[in-house]
Amino acid sequence: MNIIRPPEPEQLALRLRGLRIAVLGYGAQGHAHAQNLRDAGCDVVVGLRRGSPRWEPACLDGLHVEETAAAVSGSRVVMMLLPDEVQPEVYARDVAPRLEAGAYLGFAHGLAIAFGKLVPGPRVNTFLVAPKGPGTLVRRRFVEGGGVPCLIGVGQDPAGDTRDVAVAYACAIGGGRAGLLETTFRDEAETDLFGEQAVLCGGLSELIRAGFETLVEAGYAPELAYLECLHECKQVADLIQRHGIAGMRQHISHTACYGDLSRGRRVIGPAVRAAMREILAEVRSGAFADEWLAEHAGGCERMRAAAQRDADHPIEQVGARLRAELPMMLPPA
Ligand code: NAD
Ligand code: MG
Repeated sequence: MNIIRPPEPEQLALRLRGLRIAVLGYGAQGHAHAQNLRDAGCDVVVGLRRGSPRWEPACLDGLHVEETAAAVSGSRVVMMLLPDEVQPEVYARDVAPRLEAGAYLGFAHGLAIAFGKLVPGPRVNTFLVAPKGPGTLVRRRFVEGGGVPCLIGVGQDPAGDTRDVAVAYACAIGGGRAGLLETTFRDEAETDLFGEQAVLCGGLSELIRAGFETLVEAGYAPELAYLECLHECKQVADLIQRHGIAGMRQHISHTACYGDLSRGRRVIGPAVRAAMREILAEVRSGAFADEWLAEHAGGCERMRAAAQRDADHPIEQVGARLRAELPMMLPPA
């Protein structure tokens, strides 16, 4: 995989100078990109729906805000930082009719493009700058003088210089200080979806709940089960992030290390690996993207019911109480 060496700052400024950049959406990613671009000297306009609850916060952050279609008009770069599931409709309604010939259309996640949910005209250049971290961190690291690593990709490139625009954009939001890795819309979308489903969000939360339930069913105090199975996750995750899995084992007790090595594979065995392959196949075939957009189109009722079921789980009650009574156990917000 190619790790891109960021260009010199002067080259960077030249590449984006004079190009108006419309950042559509002012949520997790939008607020970070718009402010970082502005602070990097770029000409930024935020595009929002009329009446958006995010209009006032964007103005209070000192940004110029216009309605989506007006923000797109006259912008050379348009960054789609709307929820993935609404990007196709907003693109068709407000973006496509106003997009300048030869404009650059950017994304922070490849789903809409990779699975053909949004198909730009042949004269539109498309690029991907996907920060590998949440928006709050994209902003905080930038302010501290650092950045979050970004995946970079190019889709359509009739202009012939879309990769330069993507690299310049990634550097302007701070990514160049942390590292830029080159990939494609398809690979970013598939690995990102698989990771969040099987490992980071779906896999991890179910692993935590299963551990909690096992202990509570066996008669242990829920507080003990919560601290052991949920609270301590972050400490181990921090060690893994810093030192790798083998390195993490040098920072835990010999007893924990022996238990890990002799028992971990019994928990995540062949059945889990088979389920992971099945989930990856659904992602790659586009079945997941179809299912998700159909759920969105149908009003997300199944999604809400599933979220309510999990919000009612006892781990949430014991967790809320412990976090309120022992705030010192939490890391700074
Ligand atoms: P978000 O839900 O936090 O914010 C989206 C914003 O879009 C809202 O704040 C609002 O300003 C606007 N919006 C919402 N609904 C709209 C509608 N119907 N019409 C017009 N505007 C609307 O979204 P996000 O998490 O910042 O995600 C934006 C993109 O960034 C997605 O492609 C996502 O996959 C990607 N991404 C997000 C993160 C993350 O940290 N959350 C990380 C990497 C990539
Ligand atoms: Mg994701």
